[in-house]
Amino acid sequence: MLNLLDYTLDELQNWMKENNESAFRAKQVFSWIYKKVYNFNDMNNIPKSLKEKLENSFIIDMPKIEHVYESAVDGTKKILLALKDGNLIECVLMKYKHGNSICVSTQVGCRMGCRFCASTLEGLIRNLEPWEIIDQILKIQEDIGKRVSNLVLMGSGEPLDNFENTKKFLRIVNDKNGLNIGYRHITLSTCGIAPKMRELADLEIPINLALSLHSPYDEKRKEIMPIANAYPIKDILDACKYYIKKTNRRVTIEYSLIKGVNDSEKEAQELIRLLKGMLCHVNLIPVNNVEERDFKRPNKSHIYRFRDILEKNNIPATVRISMGSDIGGACGQLRRKHK
Ligand code: SAH
Repeated sequence: MLNLLDYTLDELQNWMKENNESAFRAKQVFSWIYKKVYNFNDMNNIPKSLKEKLENSFIIDMPKIEHVYESAVDGTKKILLALKDGNLIECVLMKYKHGNSICVSTQVGCRMGCRFCASTLEGLIRNLEPWEIIDQILKIQEDIGKRVSNLVLMGSGEPLDNFENTKKFLRIVNDKNGLNIGYRHITLSTCGIAPKMRELADLEIPINLALSLHSPYDEKRKEIMPIANAYPIKDILDACKYYIKKTNRRVTIEYSLIKGVNDSEKEAQELIRLLKGMLCHVNLIPVNNVEERDFKRPNKSHIYRFRDILEKNNIPATVRISMGSDIGGACGQLRRKHK
């Protein structure tokens, strides 16, 4: 049996043709699924003969919700999903005034090994299939009974380390007949796999790119992010510039502030030197607590001083307010194990 959620509209059109059906039927079936009609019998514009063919060829496979956590502080929800093979993944719903935003995982675990991040503690278990990434959105929409309008690929995993599945996922969520989430409302965050960043740029889809930089110095970056051994800062910033050239989008530079590690004025100045003239903005993330790690956040005034130094030098910078920290739903806190 084939999983229907694994199909892009094009692929479903091909399937229709191969099965002697008109291609326009694909659009109808596709629209039904993303309107949450999962039973072929209920798709009332589909002829009986096609319903039978679909029934015999496809399943619509959904993971089970294992647990929903809700933050008492800000209403953020973290949903733990059990996959078919027993693996668990987490996704997070953040409620903002301007709409709902969801943070999805792209892998079970992660092999990038960033020292401050919980998702990587047990390494990579496996890549998620495109439909397993989509399911996270479907499940959240089902839970809240509302449409999700913004999407960030910032959960567990490195999206560019699961690039093929991520690309297919992006096509499906963006499809007008599918979830219809505009590319401009999607942000992909990467630890900096330079050649894949360029490949992403070559797709020329206007999603937002976020780069996890976390230090302006290669040596320091290597200490906290093993990927820095493969791609020096010059390469990843060149890849960002290439991305900007191709898509005309402003790139986000993520910078998790860790007390005594990357929060000095010297580092702020070096960051300014590196980013001068680049179409970007810096998102400062006070490091979130991960119990296996002992990284601490700088105090509030220090964080805002770091931001002010950037701003005064014409580097737009904001401090990210972490949401869902009381339910382990903030940046870097998502993990594979149910505790
Ligand atoms: N693999 C992608 C997505 C990771 S999560 C990437 O590396 O960009 C999104 C952001 O949260 C990244 O910038 C990541 O470095 C950061 N992050 C991870 N752990 C964190 C922690 N404990 N506190 C604050 N930010 C963290």
